[in-house]
Amino acid sequence: MPSNETGGTTGLEDLFLDGLKDIYYAEKKILTALPKMAKAAEADEVSAAFEKHLSETEGQVDRLEQVFELMGQTASAKACPAIDGILEEGAEILEKYSGTPAIDAGLVAAAQSVEHYEIARYGTLVAWAMQMGMADVATLLQATLEEEETTDTALSSLGEGGVNERAMQEAA
Ligand code: FE
Ligand code: FE
Ligand code: FE
Repeated sequence: MPSNETGGTTGLEDLFLDGLKDIYYAEKKILTALPKMAKAAEADEVSAAFEKHLSETEGQVDRLEQVFELMGQTASAKACPAIDGILEEGAEILEKYSGTPAIDAGLVAAAQSVEHYEIARYGTLVAWAMQMGMADVATLLQATLEEEETTDTALSSLGEGGVNERAMQEAA
């Protein structure tokens, strides 16, 4: 582990560990939100996208636990007000639009907000791991970053591939 001249940890390592705990909290919250989103989705392909990402997210939590272990730390979560807020907005969409033609467009948008937060966090964590010379940690986080980016692209394709158009229908 990188140390400074007085034998303590570097500022970057502290920042990294705080970020790791933040995203660990976020992933666990996302694990509870995705099944609700899959259930509320009208189109099978939207529901399937959430189910697929749910199983990926389980693997992402495992990767984070491996990273904590490589850092010599016990896995722990630190409240992330950003993901709480993003998921709260998603819950508002769910409440207001469930059963309407607009639900899938709303859910896809809510999910993309989550992915964008994750992409920001993982992008930073990969860069910091590299800076600290922890290639094995960076590789694990990079694998997750790529899943988040692929998910974001798939959600855009769903939106543009009919979901947004269906949302223009009037509610029954
Ligand atoms: Fe994730
Ligand atoms: Fe956060
Ligand atoms: Fe994700």
